[in-house]
Amino acid sequence: MDRDVARSCTSKDGYRTEDEARAHAAMNGMSGKLFAYRCHYCEFWHLTRRPT
Ligand SMILES: [Zn+2]
Repeated sequence: MDRDVARSCTSKDGYRTEDEARAHAAMNGMSGKLFAYRCHYCEFWHLTRRPT
């Protein structure tokens, strides 16, 4: 459990809202390549690669 938290949260930025996460992806030219999901560990939003 703790390792999962470290893997999914420590190494990623957290965003307060889905819009904020998406805006960040767009700024990096990653819109459409990344999608935002709400993390159930920290309750922030993270960006992850869209599964193919
Ligand atoms: Zn998280």
